[in-house]
Amino acid sequence: MPEPRNVIIIGSGPAGLTAAIYAARANLKPLLIEGLEAGGQLMLTTDVENFPGHRNGIMGPELMAEMRAQAERFGTEIIQGNVTSTELCESPISVTTTAAEYKTRSLIIATGATARLLGLPAERALMGHGVSTCATCDGYFFRGQEIAVVGGGDSAMEEAVFLTRFASKVTLVHRRDTLRASKIMQDKARANPKIAWMLDHEVEAIHDTGKGAVSSMVVRSNKTGVKTDIPVHGVFVAIGHTPNTALFRGQIELDQNGYIVTHDGAKTSVDGVFACGDVQDHIYRQAITAAGSGCMAAIDAEHYLEHIPEHLASV
Ligand code: NAP
Repeated sequence: MPEPRNVIIIGSGPAGLTAAIYAARANLKPLLIEGLEAGGQLMLTTDVENFPGHRNGIMGPELMAEMRAQAERFGTEIIQGNVTSTELCESPISVTTTAAEYKTRSLIIATGATARLLGLPAERALMGHGVSTCATCDGYFFRGQEIAVVGGGDSAMEEAVFLTRFASKVTLVHRRDTLRASKIMQDKARANPKIAWMLDHEVEAIHDTGKGAVSSMVVRSNKTGVKTDIPVHGVFVAIGHTPNTALFRGQIELDQNGYIVTHDGAKTSVDGVFACGDVQDHIYRQAITAAGSGCMAAIDAEHYLEHIPEHLASV
């Protein structure tokens, strides 16, 4: 039986790495398990201009490399690996990866959320080069340009309206002729003269991977099958997010969309288990808010460890 760790962190985006920095500086000797997509969603971004402290911006992967190095500098042990199961209600908690089983007195879940994608080959190739899943992050790069938003939910409406602050025209593409978004959000978007509507259409292709930038998209009418090539410089995919919580289902309280429910900071429904970042936040979804909640999770874990029963306490 391995000696229990004080704290294990699952996930290596801004939330997990910030939790690691704080836990390491509190001398908890954290173990961070990186997961398959090390660095999280910022690894799919190019310029990050809204992370405080980087007034000239920083590339997403570079920001994550800096955070990782900072976490290691204070003694975080980082392992590559994929967690295959957890037993959150055991005491100590058990965490199993493809390579080993670990025991821990506290656990910080920072597994993030994954933006849903359309599944087009060009989408990943042009991600961060005209294709984006975050209007707040990338809208500013499209000043005076024509762009598109894909989706028919509240996120798509919100992003389309927000993007009209920068873009000269926003074409909203939705696969059905009725929107899923709430009436108030629909009304706001419909009242905006900069938004053009392509309902009952699906994006079939995004060009131009050869140039490494978006130059147009091909949309197909679901009614007539007619294809239209629309010149755009950006495509914002806003078709929802999936929180990465499949591992924990049935072991911890999730909301109706599968996000971990937190209360009083980063506490979850299970004692000693904390959650931070996009796995528990479907509203803000920013690197800085994820980092802030990572800090909260580490401080909550530290307080928890100070008060756990003696037989579980650190030796
Ligand atoms: P959502 O409500 O699940 O909507 C996703 C949209 O994307 C739907 O219109 C869906 O089309 C479309 N879609 C899904 N897969 C697609 C595909 N493969 N190809 C083309 N279109 C696809 O997601 P969301 O808009 O991100 O909202 C998530 C939750 O957050 C909701 O509860 C929402 O109310 C909430 N939210 C609230 C606010 C706010 O109140 N300010 C803002 C943002 C989000 P169909 O309609 O045809 O299924």
